Amino acid sequence: MDNQPNKQGYYGKFGGAFIPEMLHRNVEELKENYLKIIETKEFQDEFQLLLKDYVGRPTPLFHVQNLSKKYGAKIYLKREDLCHTGAHKLNNVVGQILLAKRLGKKHIIAETGAGQHGVATATVCALMGLECTVFMGSKDIQRQQPNVLRMKMLGAKVIPATSGSQTLKDATNEAIRHWINHPDDTHYVIGSTIGPHPYPDMVARFQSVISKEIRKQLLEKEGCETPDYVIACVGGGSNAAGAFYHFIDEPNVKLIGAEAAGEGIESGKTAATINIGTEGIIHGCKTLLMQSTDGQVLEAHSVSAGLDYPGIGPIHAHLHESGRAKYYPITDKEAIDAAFELTRSEGIIPALESAHAIAALSKIKFKPTDIVVVNLSGRGDKDMDTYSKHQIL
Ligand SMILES: *Cc1c(COP(=O)(O)O)cnc(C)c1O
Repeated sequence: MDNQPNKQGYYGKFGGAFIPEMLHRNVEELKENYLKIIETKEFQDEFQLLLKDYVGRPTPLFHVQNLSKKYGAKIYLKREDLCHTGAHKLNNVVGQILLAKRLGKKHIIAETGAGQHGVATATVCALMGLECTVFMGSKDIQRQQPNVLRMKMLGAKVIPATSGSQTLKDATNEAIRHWINHPDDTHYVIGSTIGPHPYPDMVARFQSVISKEIRKQLLEKEGCETPDYVIACVGGGSNAAGAFYHFIDEPNVKLIGAEAAGEGIESGKTAATINIGTEGIIHGCKTLLMQSTDGQVLEAHSVSAGLDYPGIGPIHAHLHESGRAKYYPITDKEAIDAAFELTRSEGIIPALESAHAIAALSKIKFKPTDIVVVNLSGRGDKDMDTYSKHQIL
């Protein structure tokens, strides 16, 4: 199956585990145990119950009639924005923290960009009575204040990452540094399909509930489990991996990723890793990343903090390389326009990240009979400040 890496964590030539020696034991412990634990009935019973009663799953699959008319296809939104805490992130965090508890960990750390992963992690730590520390770029702390306040209210410590571009990449560096210094009692909850093996596979499995539900819901609504298109935005790639997962081996389903072009892929202010990235190693895995000719990681730019990352999950680097999925660059402006379009036509304010997936609709020529599922990864409350700066409200 093309959605699963080999034993060393490689999807084709991408993936693997490139880690400092100090973390070897932690990553090895995860690698040896994750499948053994998450495949037990006891784990699955607790995980499924929390997904249902705490996260609020299954999330609806909603037919958007106005957008369907406009783009000439039957368009559904998978409403991950209705998950508890406002995005798909909680699916993965619940899974990882249930796993961490079974490995005897007492302290949870996480990195966060838009703050959604930090909020999700702080939320589950509050529920489970675990200590929580979240690393966040100081630039992101400024532009995502509501989420910073939520994390603090939930009892998490929020530590600013002041190096580099002061965004997600730098927060990830800080989290890794902290983990190196506290390897025994700490689990690092990575928020996307990135990092050393087994993280990309583990996160994709926890998020795969999205495509599992889509299949069931399409069968009920359309009499067929597979759509013609699945579209999702791609930061590190977890909501897209979850939305693609159970369709990867179905060649008739076209898989479309929307990545953040920022001010344009040629502008130098972009996060369009698939379109301009080259092979290299970032945060523990071999993948595509934006780097200078001498291998320094470049600063990414996107109006959306959750997509502002110079790397991409190895599963997506592989799906791109094999041609199985296509990735369109979406500019800041296109995303903001799409957010207003969705809001005014359907009464749903999307997260800026998810607005990139909506914007991808205008790049595709559909047939009237096409069934299209757009994964609406999160809600837009956290982005009101940005929206109000770009259009007079
Ligand atoms: C974090 C986030 C993303 C980007 O992360 P992926 O791992 O690429 O899914 C997208 N949408 C929302 C709403 C987010 O919070």
